[in-house]
Amino acid sequence: MKIHALTTGAVRVKRSFLFPGHGPRRQLNLFLPGAWADSLPIHCWAIEHDGVLRLVDTGETAEARNVPFACMEVTREQELPAAMAAAGLSLDDVSEVVLTHAHGDHIDGLVHVRGRVLINEVELRYVRSPFPRVMRRVLRQPLPAGFAPETFALDGGPFGAFARSRALSADGRIVAVDTRGHTPGHVSVICVDDSGRHVMLAGDTTDSLEQLHALRADAVAPDPKVHVAAMETILAHCAQHPTIYLPSHDPQSTARLAGALTSAEMTVAT
Ligand SMILES: [Zn+2]
Repeated sequence: MKIHALTTGAVRVKRSFLFPGHGPRRQLNLFLPGAWADSLPIHCWAIEHDGVLRLVDTGETAEARNVPFACMEVTREQELPAAMAAAGLSLDDVSEVVLTHAHGDHIDGLVHVRGRVLINEVELRYVRSPFPRVMRRVLRQPLPAGFAPETFALDGGPFGAFARSRALSADGRIVAVDTRGHTPGHVSVICVDDSGRHVMLAGDTTDSLEQLHALRADAVAPDPKVHVAAMETILAHCAQHPTIYLPSHDPQSTARLAGALTSAEMTVAT
């Protein structure tokens, strides 16, 4: 199994996104003037396993509009095709895309993909419900053209500390797990690598490892308690299995993955 980090540009968010206020200020501050944090990468992931190439998320495109709390820094040259080429991969070889959740910086790159696209049925139901529809219109964040993913259910029973999961590969080494919180149907994808460690492609469950350990809900989660519960489950899972935790916007994710792969290759060599 080989996992590649793909980077499709960057996003700059307000500090109130990363360190939200409490009560009504939590979401209100996003729309008020405030300080901005440093740019964060927009990662998505490619998994080569058993002759199948899968993507987890598809990154952002240059067309994306800014919102009051997030400023996109993506050029055409940084979109998915170039990110794939930089990893020595071709989009023509992708058989399946799994979406962690339906925010633009994870799904807009679908315009470049022709393969099968999968999303948690709960997330797709949420995407089509009135509030997200209104927000997409107000913030001018349309779904990518032709957005019509197939749905899956997290009906595969427990996986580690996660009560609900769904195997994505036939051998069960690539598994979607329930990490609802950032959005109601958010999933993470756990890959059991060749050395048996768990590589967790965590989407926007948190923006950093620090946020995970701090159990700090973000400013956009519909219910902060549900978001914190997801983090507690992840920490419980990490305590059970050696896990490399890779959120989509953590500047340290690429280095953590590179370190993991080096160790895995060393294990194989001995
Ligand atoms: Zn994101």
